[in-house]
Amino acid sequence: MLPTVRAILANPRYTGHQVWNRQRTDHDLIDAANTTLGHRDVTRWNTTADWIISAQPAHPALVREADFIAVQHLSTARETAPGRIYLLAGLLRCGVCGRRMESRWARRRPAYRCRHGHTSATGPMPGRTPNTYLREDHVLPHLPALLLRLTHDDPDGAEPMALIASAAPLSPADAVAHLRSEAISLTYDPAASSLTADTPRAERITIG
Ligand SMILES: [Zn+2]
Repeated sequence: MLPTVRAILANPRYTGHQVWNRQRTDHDLIDAANTTLGHRDVTRWNTTADWIISAQPAHPALVREADFIAVQHLSTARETAPGRIYLLAGLLRCGVCGRRMESRWARRRPAYRCRHGHTSATGPMPGRTPNTYLREDHVLPHLPALLLRLTHDDPDGAEPMALIASAAPLSPADAVAHLRSEAISLTYDPAASSLTADTPRAERITIG
């Protein structure tokens, strides 16, 4: 995502809500080792938890709230280095051992892997179960379909679900926002190339 787009998506004003308290002014010592130098005022960003956001939209939205929420979840804790963003960080479990998959930057792409509890110190061993490995770009195109299933009231019927009736095509960002807001994780089964939600209906999609 382009930095400017991320900056816009990260600013709740673009969802149509008014926002206060995004910044604060700290009165810092110029040099902690030499207090005779006095103080200076430094403007700093507050964490998003401290922002005050109007309950009602103050002006028309430029960004859908679902996209905004998705980006907030990314930009707060999921950017391990500048430009290294893991949309699915924390959402994936390994179908081989059940552990949470770790974010892993590989070949300029976000990916996820599980070493099933082994560490690099033990090294690869003959006959060991291969690492589970999943590229993010192999998952994202399938997430809108998963979101449809997760939000469908009647999986066996033909009722249109509310989201279809209401809105624009679903995006992977919509799906990520839903997974995070509902605390749903997905278990990746490398043998079947499938992802299964840890929901009562265990919705499942096949990827790749
Ligand atoms: Zn594993």
